[in-house]
Amino acid sequence: MSEKIGFIGLGIMGCPMALNLCKAGYTLWVHARRPEMMLPLIEVGATACSSPKAVAAQTDIIFTMVSDTPDVEEVILGENGVMHGASADNLIIDMSSIAASSTRRMAATLAEKDIEMLDAPVSGGDKGAIAGTLSIMVGGKAAQFERARPLFEVLGENIVHIGDHGAGQIAKTCNQVLVSQTIAAVGEALLLAKAAGVEPANVRKALLGGFAGSRILEVHRQRMLEHHFQTGFKTKHCHKDMRVAMQTAHELGIALPGTALATQYLSALMGTRPRSLDSAAMVLALEQLSDVHLGKGERFKEE
Ligand code: NAP
Repeated sequence: MSEKIGFIGLGIMGCPMALNLCKAGYTLWVHARRPEMMLPLIEVGATACSSPKAVAAQTDIIFTMVSDTPDVEEVILGENGVMHGASADNLIIDMSSIAASSTRRMAATLAEKDIEMLDAPVSGGDKGAIAGTLSIMVGGKAAQFERARPLFEVLGENIVHIGDHGAGQIAKTCNQVLVSQTIAAVGEALLLAKAAGVEPANVRKALLGGFAGSRILEVHRQRMLEHHFQTGFKTKHCHKDMRVAMQTAHELGIALPGTALATQYLSALMGTRPRSLDSAAMVLALEQLSDVHLGKGERFKEE
């Protein structure tokens, strides 16, 4: 426990992750753009800092868990960014889901100052963040992965060193390619049942035991069948992940037609619904196409 820990970005994922590190006995220095987001951490003994730079000046290992690629760039490289408070041998662990190309550029810039970086995006949602059971996909040097391993073991269960800088983000993009298309597939299957006059809840129950069973079919029951889209994983973040996937495919010169289709469902929602709805709301776009509706009524509640 000798290393001092910083944590920047205390939203749906970052807050419970930082709390788990406190519970495990680590001393934390934290920063959030909206000061009130730091209160749960201050209550358990963390120190509030005015900027990412101030966090880095106090700590050895600094986690970032913010939204999108430009946000991570701002928090790490910006005027008040981590880089300007960090010193040689500090380690920055970015757990946000962002573009691998940006991660690689940031790691190279930090390396010029002997500052280490790992990309370590996660899967498992808010439930996994609270329970400390996340899947963690890590890119960067093996020695830094070993240095961070005790911390990762507090936050998650399935912890894999994928490869060099950016490899963790590529794994996360692969994860989102699967997740987005599975949400759409589950939505289509449940709507087919409904249109055919068969109870979708019973179809889901039967399917869970066979080859079509999936974690998304399991956890999205209430969300899709009851239109309960209280935020877990925001549609705006899912849409962002699709943008990252399509941009990566563009750079590589490969086709991801299924992902492109899932992107369109999300794009339809982005203009018409609150962006904080859970990504299971993708089923709403499918419902409109055929005018078949699963939920009894729409319950949209902004956070
Ligand atoms: P969130 O609830 O929206 O939290 C993001 C936090 O980052 C917010 O507190 C936000 O501050 C802060 N932030 C964003 N841009 C910033 C900037 N430029 N400077 C300082 N702070 C900034 O999102 P989340 O669900 O925790 O997701 C965080 C990351 O994890 C995203 O990349 C997401 O794709 C990924 N992820 C999410 C889930 C999930 O189920 N939720 C699962 C796996 C991965 P404000 O509050 O001021 O906006």
